[in-house]
Amino acid sequence: MDDRTPCPAPTGGPSTPRVLGRRAFLEDVLLLSGGAVVFLAGATAAAPAAAAEGAASAPPAAEGYQPWEHRWAYLVDPERCIGCGSCVRACSAENHVPDGFFRTWVERYVTGMDGTSVDSPNGGKDGFPALQVAFVATKSFFVPKMCNHCRETPCIQVCPVGASYRTPDGVVLVDGERCIGCAYCVQACPFGSRFLSPETHTAEKCTWCYHRITRGLRPACVEVCPTGARAFGDLRREGDPVRHAIEHDRVAVLQPHLRTEPQCFYLHLDGEVR
Ligand code: SF4
Ligand code: SF4
Repeated sequence: MDDRTPCPAPTGGPSTPRVLGRRAFLEDVLLLSGGAVVFLAGATAAAPAAAAEGAASAPPAAEGYQPWEHRWAYLVDPERCIGCGSCVRACSAENHVPDGFFRTWVERYVTGMDGTSVDSPNGGKDGFPALQVAFVATKSFFVPKMCNHCRETPCIQVCPVGASYRTPDGVVLVDGERCIGCAYCVQACPFGSRFLSPETHTAEKCTWCYHRITRGLRPACVEVCPTGARAFGDLRREGDPVRHAIEHDRVAVLQPHLRTEPQCFYLHLDGEVR
């Protein structure tokens, strides 16, 4: 049931989270904004299964799962993110992400007199260092990022062997058995969401924890977020809170001018976010 559509032609893009900071002072002087601690309705306490079998490559759907009955979407509220890094650590453990690589990461945006700088030390996995105040930020906030599971995907289009594909329920995956490690997709993704694993030598990226969501669980990053900054929902389900937010609230996507139609939506997205 996969709609695999191979074709050629790579462009550019980093393979690890982009540290976009323009000034080194962010490494040691920065002000953290306080994050509102608010939980989204529907949060549960089921812990991610850190040792999910086969999670590192194309994750299998649960037996009996009917993908055409779902249309998954992801919602991020940066105003709730406190930069704790729990999501990055949970993703790393759940999906056996190699050290130094990230399927999801958190960026910190800080605006001061000299403009806006962005950093993401170790993908935000260890949180962000407290700031020795010598620099006055007029604005600072955190932005969780991952694969946007775009509907118009340069990553799928450039794959010469059809290893990248979209499932009927709207998840972009990589078939690790088919991937030849050419890294065309890594270069083609304009969001820096993919990397070539030094262990498998195949392309890897966020799968929205496909092995979990097809079993009725939420992605590991959503499960552990203590503030509800991350939410996951089904656009085919009446009354789904993520669907409701996407339909009724002011949501935005990253880099809309690229027209990749991301399925990760952001509430209250600051105009500085790239
Ligand atoms: S964010 Fe990048 S890897 Fe993910 S679907 Fe879009 S183009 Fe592909
Ligand atoms: S777990 Fe939630 S609050 Fe913590 S960094 Fe991730 S998104 Fe932000």
